[in-house]
Amino acid sequence: MSSFVIQDLNHQKDIGANCLLVECGKFRFLIDAGMDPKELGEKALPKLSLLPPNSIDFIIITHCHLDHLGALPILAKQQSKAQILVSLPTSLLAPLMLKNSVSVMTRQKEEKEIPEYPLFDKNDVLSLQKKFFVLKFGQPYCLEKEKQTAKITLFSAGHVLGASSVFIEHEGHSIFLTGDILFSDQNSLRGAQIPRFENLDALILETTRGDTERTALRREEESRLLALIRKTVKRGGICLIPAFALGRIQELLVLFYQAKKAHKLPECPIFCSGLGMSLISAFDKMGKRLSSVNFSRQILKQLNIKQLRKRTIDPRKTRLNAPAIYLLSSGMLAEHTPAYHIASCILHNNNNTICFVGHCDENTPGGQLQRVQPNEKFTFENLHYTTPVRAKIERFDLSGHADRKDLYQFTLAQHPQKVVLTHGDPQARKWFFDQFSAHAKEFSVLDPNVGQKYEL
Ligand SMILES: [Zn+2]
Ligand SMILES: [Zn+2]
Repeated sequence: MSSFVIQDLNHQKDIGANCLLVECGKFRFLIDAGMDPKELGEKALPKLSLLPPNSIDFIIITHCHLDHLGALPILAKQQSKAQILVSLPTSLLAPLMLKNSVSVMTRQKEEKEIPEYPLFDKNDVLSLQKKFFVLKFGQPYCLEKEKQTAKITLFSAGHVLGASSVFIEHEGHSIFLTGDILFSDQNSLRGAQIPRFENLDALILETTRGDTERTALRREEESRLLALIRKTVKRGGICLIPAFALGRIQELLVLFYQAKKAHKLPECPIFCSGLGMSLISAFDKMGKRLSSVNFSRQILKQLNIKQLRKRTIDPRKTRLNAPAIYLLSSGMLAEHTPAYHIASCILHNNNNTICFVGHCDENTPGGQLQRVQPNEKFTFENLHYTTPVRAKIERFDLSGHADRKDLYQFTLAQHPQKVVLTHGDPQARKWFFDQFSAHAKEFSVLDPNVGQKYEL
């Protein structure tokens, strides 16, 4: 009989608020404590009511994107005895990400009339840090409870700085959770380093890209992006690249630096701003300590990066100097972010370009803008400003997630007894479910319902 039981505490079957309860023998622990970026208020939280207070031994956080980390201060208060196991980069990045969340929630409290905001404060983040216990990649950590041992090993998962896959062993049984994972190398970070396991009871697989087939290689997409930047600058235009603060901005900075050395980056001012820049010191520190990280704050100097002062920007009054490159968070053009403001200033001019380099949820301003036809009107609701779409809008596949073919092959090579699908929209899960169902003689596949317990 297997010794593992899981319960998905996400509030719905999608990417949302990642939080998985795992029980084995005497141990009860959580993997991730996310907040759904598509929801507001308490609706964004995982199903915390299913967890009695102080019923959890420890919490593992795979990485610092908010869909995995955002609810941690709340959970840590309810589960006050639980140690929090993280990688070294995650221990540095998590407080920065969470403090930024406090600021965002404090602003939204008034603006969107959400009385319960902020759901936690900066003191909660401070006390949280004391509970962090740092695990080194590849080195097992043993937890003891009532004469039982659970062994936890984190492996580098690529994806973003600090991202971890989790291997758990207990009483001769084992499970592996990929977490958000990328096998191929990025410019700033080496791809996932995962060994071949023996006799896995279950492999818990992220399925983010199950619904999309990769059409171009990463290198080709990078070349296409650089070519479009050169073309835009040559005609005197402004190029805006909205990018995720954690991972994408730093990755693009390294790409720009390498392109500059190869004379593939045009001469013009480059502006950066937002949370992505607040994370730079953590990236710089890790670049010095970890061989898998290729980043140094020197890059900012080499590229002569200029800071953008967001507050002075109003599309009715601001005239931006051109040509220029703006590399700004947020990746989905969320309201109030530097990218949102600059987009409002440049959309009306057909010399300009907006390059999306990651996934945009369809309900975000970024997702909506990608569906608008050229010359149609687009409204920046938050600024009460409508403008025709004349700038070129382009998408590039530079995702931090493995594509479905790589995940499928990885899974087959691991020979698990069971595959459990997670972190994907229904269509994405369906692709994997159908593919794996064809291997019914070798292993079973489970697409768990939220809130339901399963023995693995
Ligand atoms: Zn992630
Ligand atoms: Zn995620």
